[in-house]
Amino acid sequence: MAERDYYEVLGVARDASQGEIKKSYRKLAMKHHPDQNPDDPKAEEKFKEIGEAYEVISDEEKRAAYDRYGHAAFKSGGGGGGGGRGGFHDPMDIFSQVFGGGGGGSMFDDLFGGGGGRRRDRSGKKRGSDLRYDLEITLEEAAEGVEKELEIEKYASCGKCSGSGSKSGSAGTNTCSTCGGRGVVGQQRGIFIQQATCPDCRGAGQNIADPCGNCGGDGRKQAPERVSIRIPAGVDDGTRLRSTGKGDAGMRGGSAGDLYVFLHLRDHDVFQRDGDDLYCEVPLPFSTAALGGELEVPTLTGSATMKVPAGTQGGTTFRLRDRGMPALNGRGKGDLHVEVQVEVPTRLSSDQRERLEAFTESIGEKNSPVQESFFEKAKRFFDS
Ligand SMILES: [Zn+2]
Ligand SMILES: [Zn+2]
Repeated sequence: MAERDYYEVLGVARDASQGEIKKSYRKLAMKHHPDQNPDDPKAEEKFKEIGEAYEVISDEEKRAAYDRYGHAAFKSGGGGGGGGRGGFHDPMDIFSQVFGGGGGGSMFDDLFGGGGGRRRDRSGKKRGSDLRYDLEITLEEAAEGVEKELEIEKYASCGKCSGSGSKSGSAGTNTCSTCGGRGVVGQQRGIFIQQATCPDCRGAGQNIADPCGNCGGDGRKQAPERVSIRIPAGVDDGTRLRSTGKGDAGMRGGSAGDLYVFLHLRDHDVFQRDGDDLYCEVPLPFSTAALGGELEVPTLTGSATMKVPAGTQGGTTFRLRDRGMPALNGRGKGDLHVEVQVEVPTRLSSDQRERLEAFTESIGEKNSPVQESFFEKAKRFFDS
């Protein structure tokens, strides 16, 4: 991937002040945060790029090097290739630093409705990730509501240490020997020493003194989990349901993330849906169309009888009130729109044929309302 100019990424001038840079970063990071764009696989890439640009330009020393050497200032010595993000920080950490401020969750968490911040404290507690699950349901399930059991691959809280990560539950910690308690390690990157999150303590600076043998001190382990979820009546394609705390378990007793279930509606053989209304096409025998009568039509719960007036033309739509989908807020129902398609018999006996010919002769040309209005229009067209 070609690297874009960091100033361009942040949308600021080369002589922008730190205040302007921070302001622009906040705006862009909010917009491209992966949690805000669950359907856009490019959002994460974009979010990383913004974090990387901010990390460099917000640091006067790194900014000066970038101004002088460009991206080359941050490349490892090993002859290009490989790519990767080198020694840059986790973009989520940068995000948390900028938005974190004091006390409680970050501004973003407040906006998004989630609880808890993403920042790590010295105990290594870290909130678990939010998870996404795509679920296909039928139109009937969407109409009535349904309870579903999902099997989710996730990090679950370790049963042995109750999520603390400590074998004895004493929660004692030792200073991490890899980073000496700083939580970051230095890596030579070109002319710089870049700091990266310590791989051993994952930034906490402390390791559990007596790590649990089952989870290695993380307090969580990857394990499938069954989660049941109640889908309310009236949901539509694209409806997103949140199950609080059903995402990944947190690290070392941190709070769990949330599970987001994205609903997809399977196409139905008979009905099309538009909002709370349903649409279908039903064949109408041509004798019923001419004489009028009753027509059996399908509904979501079975069938209904519809009155068809004499002289009904093909393509006419009838509306059956309250036979559509229930509204998601529980108030009322949509309608069912039935379009009739006049059906012409194809295998006539010779007797039926003769009668139909006799009928045609008797009716003459005077009783074809659609044809009459058609020829009216055609005449106007040719005369003008
Ligand atoms: Zn454990
Ligand atoms: Zn460490």
